[in-house]
Amino acid sequence: MPERRRPATAPRYRPVDAMRAARFTGIGTFMRLPNVVDMTGVDAAFIGIPFDTAVSYRIGGRFGPSAIREASRLLRPYNVEQGIEIFEHVSAVDAGDVAVIPGNVLASYAVIEAGLRSILDAGVIPLAIGGDHSITLGELRALFKRHGPVGLIDFDSHTDTWDSYWGERYTHGTWCRRAIEEGLIDTARAVQLGIRGSLYGPEDRDGARALGLHLIPTETLLERGVDSVLPEVVERVGKGPVFLSFDIDFVDPGFAPGTGTPEVGGPSSRDALRLVRGLRELDLVGFDLVEVQPQYDHGEVTSLLAGTLLHEFLTLIALARRAR
Ligand code: MN
Ligand code: MN
Repeated sequence: MPERRRPATAPRYRPVDAMRAARFTGIGTFMRLPNVVDMTGVDAAFIGIPFDTAVSYRIGGRFGPSAIREASRLLRPYNVEQGIEIFEHVSAVDAGDVAVIPGNVLASYAVIEAGLRSILDAGVIPLAIGGDHSITLGELRALFKRHGPVGLIDFDSHTDTWDSYWGERYTHGTWCRRAIEEGLIDTARAVQLGIRGSLYGPEDRDGARALGLHLIPTETLLERGVDSVLPEVVERVGKGPVFLSFDIDFVDPGFAPGTGTPEVGGPSSRDALRLVRGLRELDLVGFDLVEVQPQYDHGEVTSLLAGTLLHEFLTLIALARRAR
């Protein structure tokens, strides 16, 4: 990402100070950040993409962004594990939601791409909150126009490389194949972590590999451990721009029950946080967190995990800016 000079008069944005106004007060933006759409003075912008009608099983991700925002009230500005006060290094806002069109994935892609471009064109890093995983294709189209093909780190129990569902080519299970076909992903710099669960046949995983994706299935991840797998991910992705997509069903449904296609026997929330924290040397140019369905959640556990992962993503941006 090219260096961007901040005008001396540009505003700086950070959450409401919880020592002045308790965390349960105020309108529910992400981490109680200001709701701002003018990208002047902004380094990172959260944006809700509540589209959920391209799913193959349960539905309800349209309420993901609002539930994650509510749960994120708890999060504090200092990241202990990474040793950084996030907002000393990042001016961040909640840019609100993209006005998606329920039931129309192609029209929604157009508004998702436009919404992301208004952020990217200002040199701001987007952190999208879904919504089902189909939205990532719209985001990658916008990223391509700024960065060309990007590397991909995809946390997911599914490869999302099926060709179609019921003849539909644009779904949450096909976005990754479409993105590769459209040339949006540099597959030599792409990795999928956490693949598991029953399949239609062995060709499902083989098909993903045939597209050039590097798979680190859950059984490999849990057998080798986070510390062994991380260097492989970092080396595979390398130096160029990379997009991080996190489907919450990567995590075991015991820790993240509020999702649409849960697969049992997965990594813990702690494993997920440790993996994300290990990505600090990379040129991360965009993020999304998808597939949270609050209707199937209990006690906000899934939404709080999703919010905490987004907090870790923002920390990675802060670390990169501090290092410059
Ligand atoms: Mn997915
Ligand atoms: Mn999935």
